Amino acid sequence: MGNETVFPRAVLFDRDDTLVVDVPYNGDPDLVRPVPGAGQVLQALRAAGVRCGVISNQSGIARGLISAEQVAAVNARVSELLGPFDTFQFCPHGPEDRCRCRKPAPGMVHRACEELGLEPWEVAVVGDIGADVAAAKAAGARGVLVPTAVTRPEEVRDADLVAGSLAEAMRLLGGIPAPADQGAGGRA
Ligand SMILES: [Mg+2]
Ligand SMILES: [Zn+2]
Repeated sequence: MGNETVFPRAVLFDRDDTLVVDVPYNGDPDLVRPVPGAGQVLQALRAAGVRCGVISNQSGIARGLISAEQVAAVNARVSELLGPFDTFQFCPHGPEDRCRCRKPAPGMVHRACEELGLEPWEVAVVGDIGADVAAAKAAGARGVLVPTAVTRPEEVRDADLVAGSLAEAMRLLGGIPAPADQGAGGRA
């Protein structure tokens, strides 16, 4: 144990266009649609004892486009469809706020690690844009980019790990351990 081929003990997912189909500045829980395959990946992670979290930029709050209550309602719907999550972080700030949590800053990764009692190197971040994997790198976590059609080519080029799907991202991280591996002497 203790090398980079060991699957991470927690995976932190971006929300929009990673776990759920992006609806820009969505404040309506009824519009939440999981990305195909997300539920199966999360189920396999939980079965393997890997903890799952969400880290999400929600600058629509700072921009006055959606309320914190609306974001909370959408997040609750995400948890209802894809949870439970062991940690769920969102940043309400805009780029001008220069906060420590808005990705690519590492604040939400650090906060999630604190909540989970893990070190950043034990954690992976999966997201669809450069800011997601940059936040991982800034925190000292592993990052995997799962681009969409609107991800910028330079962000794909610059990413250390690029996957075509969430399932492939898990394979790039070493493969989700089988539930049978989680007996006594496994992950404490
Ligand atoms: Mg995203
Ligand atoms: Zn913030």
